[in-house]
Amino acid sequence: MKLLLQEAKRWGINLTPEQVESFRIYYQELLSWHERASLTTVTDPEGVQIQHFLDSLSCLLVLEPWLKGGARVIDIGTGAGFPGLPMKIVRPGISLVLLESTRKKVEFLQHLVGLLGLQGVETVWGRAEEAGHEPRFRASFDIALGRAVGPFPVLLEYALPFLKLGGVLVAQRGQAGKREIQEATKALDLLGGQIKQIREVLLPNRREPRYLVVVEKVAITPEKYPRRPGVPHKKPLV
Ligand code: SAM
Repeated sequence: MKLLLQEAKRWGINLTPEQVESFRIYYQELLSWHERASLTTVTDPEGVQIQHFLDSLSCLLVLEPWLKGGARVIDIGTGAGFPGLPMKIVRPGISLVLLESTRKKVEFLQHLVGLLGLQGVETVWGRAEEAGHEPRFRASFDIALGRAVGPFPVLLEYALPFLKLGGVLVAQRGQAGKREIQEATKALDLLGGQIKQIREVLLPNRREPRYLVVVEKVAITPEKYPRRPGVPHKKPLV
């Protein structure tokens, strides 16, 4: 985990030996489960450290003001736990919900959370379109995360219902990020979101920049959102 340790340090994130050990175990378990649970196509040590662990930790570059005092965080479509679990390893005070619609991936997450002995993590097998209407989840989070979970307007429809007023979504987007944002005006208006910040992130040995798009919830999301399972994807709010 040398590469991770060194690159995180450049961002001011100093990993303790215990945290490095947690990432080593995470890597091992990812390797042994990845085929069984279709977790990731990236399995080489450099790729996992940069594209999964470091890319997940990049959210901390914009989130520190919201993380004080044990924020409540939801990671939507978390897959193998990205970006939520690396953030939990580094900021253990957060309370984290990992939401994932594929059962095998949830089994992996439950196994890993137990192995790492992490407290304050709930794994939920379900869809954002349904969980977003459950009273225990709706409008109850300070932070929502979502990486590689559909086009930007779809992610907005999944995420904004989960946030409290003043809470933020951090959407990790690729090259198309800037264009997508221009096309999301309607979704932002309808769902009660406002773009606060767009931060470019450069990962080591990667040419293409990544973008952290911070969206604040500034108005209550109407009850009808998110729409029924599959509808946000079929008919995005554009
Ligand atoms: N966020 C992870 C990452 O960046 O590595 C996983 C990304 S993967 C491309 C998208 C994940 O979202 C899949 O694991 C999929 O099962 C899950 N997913 C897709 N639609 C979802 C929904 N409506 N609700 C919850 N999870 C969903």
